[in-house]
Amino acid sequence: MKVIQTWDDGIVSDIRLIEVLRRHQAKATFCLNPGLYQENRSFGWIHENREVWRLSIHELVDVYNDFEICSHSMTHPYLTDHSADHLHWELQSSRHILENIFQKPVLGFCYPFNTYNDFVKDAVRSAGYKWARGNQHQEIVYPPIDPLEFHPCCHFLDQDFWGKYDRQKERNGVFFFWGHSYELTDETMWENFEMRIGGISSDPEVEWAFVADLFV
Ligand SMILES: [Zn+2]
Repeated sequence: MKVIQTWDDGIVSDIRLIEVLRRHQAKATFCLNPGLYQENRSFGWIHENREVWRLSIHELVDVYNDFEICSHSMTHPYLTDHSADHLHWELQSSRHILENIFQKPVLGFCYPFNTYNDFVKDAVRSAGYKWARGNQHQEIVYPPIDPLEFHPCCHFLDQDFWGKYDRQKERNGVFFFWGHSYELTDETMWENFEMRIGGISSDPEVEWAFVADLFV
């Protein structure tokens, strides 16, 4: 079985998440909004009474070195509210800026707020993306009917995480989970997360993969 994971928004707590991933040689994909990073770290929003801060533009290369990068649009809007011209900017510019920053192709997209329709999906396809994360949780996710709607199996905090993992393993499928590092709000959650990543890495029947490896 292949295991893939995607993490959204490019925030300061990704640094700690990546430390965990590196300790266990886990691959992961990070979904970034290049229109929102500033010269310095910047305040984003409040989650469960805690401030969420975005990374600075200058940190991105060091923080995400060796991980897969996908676009999460320029500015994280509801893409379904926008014209074709604005969509073009959100999709094309974000891809070009990320490719320039990381000096590698950006093949994937993650819809902000997991919101899209056929018009948005077509715009993502014409912008040259090879895959995009879908907005439903499905038991069997690969191969998807449309790679521009590649649904995950579950959120990383799903109560049935290991049940879904085991069922994919039985059929040697793909297990795909997603989340945001800011959802890890206390030390117990971080410990549980590390046990989860360590458990996957030590499973001899499993290998971590980047999403693009499944579609290119
Ligand atoms: Zn997001």
